[in-house]
Amino acid sequence: MQIPEHQIGFEKMFNTEEQCVEYLMELRWPEGYQCSRCKNKTFWLGNKKRIICSKCEFQTTAIAGTIFEQTNKPLVLWFRAIWWMVAQKNGVSASGLQRILGLGSYKTAWTWLQKLRLLTVAPGREKLHGEVEVDETLVGGVKEGKRGRGSENKSLVVVAVEVLKKGTGRIRLHIVPTASAKNLTEVITAHIDKGSTIITDGWTGYGKIAQKGYEHRVEKLQEKENQEQMLPNAHRVASLLKRWLIGTHQNYVSKNRLQNYLEEFVFRYNRRKSNSRGLLFQRIMEQAVRYNPVKYTEIMNNSITGQK
Ligand SMILES: [Zn+2]
Repeated sequence: MQIPEHQIGFEKMFNTEEQCVEYLMELRWPEGYQCSRCKNKTFWLGNKKRIICSKCEFQTTAIAGTIFEQTNKPLVLWFRAIWWMVAQKNGVSASGLQRILGLGSYKTAWTWLQKLRLLTVAPGREKLHGEVEVDETLVGGVKEGKRGRGSENKSLVVVAVEVLKKGTGRIRLHIVPTASAKNLTEVITAHIDKGSTIITDGWTGYGKIAQKGYEHRVEKLQEKENQEQMLPNAHRVASLLKRWLIGTHQNYVSKNRLQNYLEEFVFRYNRRKSNSRGLLFQRIMEQAVRYNPVKYTEIMNNSITGQK
């Protein structure tokens, strides 16, 4: 399948509605489209993204059952939104997207980005493994710190980072209500393979990991060291995350939607070495056609049903 490699290539590939429809069809029916009623393989494309069987005239649309299903906006715009999301190093904010696409309303841009963020989590993604630093950090508020009494607007986020011989591997970020042993153990077992080495500070909340099939290495604060030097990779990721939330999103991230932003950050971080924006574009598109349509009210209620 052809993938866009740069801005000019992207614009050539997805210049018309028909090109977008054909791309979606290729993703959804790699063996070729077949009429679900009469099994005929020839068709023509109608308006409103319709596919019409040229034998029995049965109609379906290229967007039925995808994340685009509810939309009456051109796919050309949706594809551009996705391209901007992956082509920009730090992503794009809702007001930025509204400007780029010339969308009439901020709410549309905001809703689109909320939807697209849901596509950054691949189903059945592999857990982290090897040596993994785990720490928590408070996100969203003005004050720095952790485990303290956070303000109403702050969220406690568990940061897990694979430590390689040189640099870091993949990461995971997960909100927890408190840094209790129950919550921390749950996050670790959900995101990190058994048998891995978990590196933490001496917080009692990590006391039970060794019983769960992990090696547990506790870093102790040495003289002349501060917290940041102790788990340097987790701290670095936490500060990149905070800079991203402030820089790209001006920290306007509400608490009950923060996990979706965390997933977008994880998606970007874990693919930071990928030279191909086109592959990232395709990754998001593959998710888009796999996804149940998401309604605006579901996003508002944070009651997304998830992948099929
Ligand atoms: Zn047919």
